[in-house]
Amino acid sequence: MTDRADAAAAAVDADEVLALAQALIRARSENPGATEDEAADLVTGVLLGLGAAPHTVRGEAGRPSVVATMGAGAGSTLAWNGHLDTVPAGSRDTWSVDPFAGEVVDGRLVGRGACDMKGPVAAALAGAAALVRAGIELAGSLTFHLVADEELAGTHGTQVLRDHGLLTQAAAIVGEPSNLEVALAERGGAWVTATTYGAAAHGSQPHRGVNAITGMARFLLRLEEVVPDTVHPLCGRATVNAALIEGGSAPNMVPDRCVVDIDRRTIPGETDPDKVLAPFRTLADGLRAEDPTLNLRTEIREWIDAAESPVDAPIADAIRVATTAETGTTPPDVGFTGITDARFYLNDAAIPTVIFGPGDLSLAHTADESIAVEELVTGARTYARIFASFLGG
Ligand SMILES: [Zn+2]
Repeated sequence: MTDRADAAAAAVDADEVLALAQALIRARSENPGATEDEAADLVTGVLLGLGAAPHTVRGEAGRPSVVATMGAGAGSTLAWNGHLDTVPAGSRDTWSVDPFAGEVVDGRLVGRGACDMKGPVAAALAGAAALVRAGIELAGSLTFHLVADEELAGTHGTQVLRDHGLLTQAAAIVGEPSNLEVALAERGGAWVTATTYGAAAHGSQPHRGVNAITGMARFLLRLEEVVPDTVHPLCGRATVNAALIEGGSAPNMVPDRCVVDIDRRTIPGETDPDKVLAPFRTLADGLRAEDPTLNLRTEIREWIDAAESPVDAPIADAIRVATTAETGTTPPDVGFTGITDARFYLNDAAIPTVIFGPGDLSLAHTADESIAVEELVTGARTYARIFASFLGG
């Protein structure tokens, strides 16, 4: 088994990894904005070359997700999921290079999607190409899910694959940038709308009205109180962030309404929206006891479940062994702070899933997003090892 893994890693072509990542960055796929079609065509060509018979699945919105399987043995099955879309590049002046040129600067590939996650997609495809080049037969099968629309919640990407009944594998890797650490859990989110209702009055006679903005301000200053003390071993504590505010109608009026969008991130185990919302209401009730004019309502506008994988899942062990062999260090188990498509595999299909890829998530969505070329190649070599061993004889 180790020989197979070593042979697979040795067959990775470093130039191929970089060239593929550059080509994907040039296939612009901002979301919202341009579609993923050019990037989907590109990976389809690569997968055809690997003999993986790719096909494209499109949901109602027509967005492309490419599905392709290598190997047809009776052994274990593994899905590798990566998204083809990126967040927008934003203003060109904030970048020191063209975000869609795929330039290498000081050993780092710079561009939109370099780490999130065209670089990891290139690493996985190059890892699979190494298996073919080394003549390594898979006892099971490796299925690529290269999807649309992850950046806006996956509705038109992995969710479509789920609805087509394609999430059937024994294990999955979601290749988001994890610094090659083993991310076994991810947080979820509750998007809460808080609204205060006051009474309008002439701005020169504020005592005749009830100021909805002032009421909201008192609530927001104590917002941290809605987060429970519970600590998840990998994800830490939940968080809360007042994200967007709107209120008032004119500079010379007492405002009668103020609305705030609140981003409350949940940890695994927080599965009941009512329980997450209850502390918001307790806080509002406490403030109303001090000032009966406060009229504040809260509701959950959108909810995404947190997710976690068993720590002892065989795919997690395969990743630890491969990474240790490749880098000389045992990777830590961690939690992923953002929401990924892993939740579809874990929560909807009960598939043990690890978020694992090269690149640093803190550079994702930034200007001058980048990934070290060396880490890209290490990622490809590690993926080659994982594919060879987990799907071995
Ligand atoms: Zn991503």
